[in-house]
Amino acid sequence: MTEKTRAQKAMELEDRYGAHNYHPLPVVLEKGEGVYVWDTEGKKYYDFLSAYSAVNQGHAHPKIVNALVEQANRLPLTSRAFYNSELGKYEKFITTYFGYDKVLPMNTGAEAVETAIKLARKWAYTVKGVEENKAKVIVCENNFHGRTISIISASNDPDAYSDFGPYTPGFVRIPYNDTAALEKELADKNVAAFLVEPIQGEAGVMVPDEGYLSTCFDLCKKNNVLFMADEVQTGIARTGKLLASEYDNVRPDVLILGKAVSGGLYPVSAVLADDEIMLTIKPGQHGSTFGGNPIAANVAIAALEVVQEEKLAENANRLGKILRDELNSIETEMITTVRGKGLLNAIVIKNAEGKNAWDVCVRLMENGLLAKPTHGDIIRFAPPLVITEEQMMDCVDIIKKTIASFEG
Ligand SMILES: *Cc1c(COP(=O)(O)O)cnc(C)c1O
Repeated sequence: MTEKTRAQKAMELEDRYGAHNYHPLPVVLEKGEGVYVWDTEGKKYYDFLSAYSAVNQGHAHPKIVNALVEQANRLPLTSRAFYNSELGKYEKFITTYFGYDKVLPMNTGAEAVETAIKLARKWAYTVKGVEENKAKVIVCENNFHGRTISIISASNDPDAYSDFGPYTPGFVRIPYNDTAALEKELADKNVAAFLVEPIQGEAGVMVPDEGYLSTCFDLCKKNNVLFMADEVQTGIARTGKLLASEYDNVRPDVLILGKAVSGGLYPVSAVLADDEIMLTIKPGQHGSTFGGNPIAANVAIAALEVVQEEKLAENANRLGKILRDELNSIETEMITTVRGKGLLNAIVIKNAEGKNAWDVCVRLMENGLLAKPTHGDIIRFAPPLVITEEQMMDCVDIIKKTIASFEG
C-alpha cells in the first residue's frame, strides 16, 4: 500500500472525529495570502468563496493580523463585567462608520440575528405597545439567517429545520421580492419587524428588483414596523457598496453585520440601531462573554479601515461588472444564468451528460480556482475584494477553460 498523503490524513481525521455537518470539496488548505490559498501539496488556488464573504479584505491581511497579534499580547478578554480600554473606541468607530447611535457587539452572524429579533420584540412591547407575547417578525421564503433554533424556525429549507422542532413561534413568512405580500402582513398590528437580506446569498444570490427594499422600508414606516437588514453576507463592500441597502437608498432601522467585519480573522458580529430601539434592552437582559472583547474591537477597526483605505467597494463594483460581462460572453449551453452585484455572483449550471455544479467545482479546483456549489445547480463566485483586474482575467480564463472541457 502506498503512503497516505498529508491531505488524505487530514481529511480522514475530520471525517473520523468531526461531526458530519459539512460536505467539503476534497482540498486541504494550509496557507492563505490575499486572493490565494495553498493546499498541503503547495498547489495554489484562487479563493472564489472567501469563507462565505468573511474574507473580503483577503487572507491574512497584514494590517488586520497586526491588530490581532498586538491585542492578543496585551489583553485578549475581560468579559463585559468590567470596562476595557478598547471597546468604547471601537463602538465610537463603528457607529460613526455606519451612522447609527449605538452598536451591540456579538460574535457570530447567527447571534447578531438573534439579537436583532430580541431587540425587535423588546421594542414592540416597550415602545410600540404590542400585547404581551404577541409580537411577530416577518421573514422571507428561502432566507438564510443562521443555524440557531429560533432562526431555523423561520426557515423553509428542510435541511435547516427538519427534525429540529419544536420551533420558536412568532415568525410569518412571505415570498421574497413581493411588496404586496409584505403590505398584506403589515396590516397585523402585532408585527414588530421585517427581517430581510438585501440580496439572498445562500439561496443562490437572488437579487431583488430595483426599488424592492425602499418600497418595503416605506411600508414598514407607514405601519410602525422596524426594517431589519441582515447584511452579514452582503455588507462590508461585497456587493460594490459598503452596504447593499445603499443601492435602494435605504437606511435600515436595525443593521445586522458579521463575517467581513473582522476580515475573516476572528468571529465578530454587530447589531446597529438608534437609541429608541437599542436602549430598550437594559443591563442583564442580553449579552455574550466574548462579545466586544478587546481583540475583536481592534480587529474590526483594522478590518473596516482596510475597506476604506483600499477602496474595496469601488473595486468590487468595477470587477464585478467585468466578471459578469465575461461570464455572459461564454458561448455555452451549460451556464443558463449569470447574476449578482459587485463581487457577489452566481452562475446556474444546466446538467449536461450527467455533469452537475459539483463536477464543475471539482474541475475548477483542479484548474486552480475554489468555488462551492449550492442547491445542486448554482455556483457562487465571490472572491476576496482585493482581487486585481489581472487576477480576475486569469480567473475568467480558468472558468472558460473549465466550461469548455465539458463540451464536445
Ligand atoms: C452567514 C450568514 C449568517 C450566519 O452567520 P454565522 O456567522 O455563520 O452564524 C446570517 N445571515 C446571513 C445572510 C449569512 O450569510
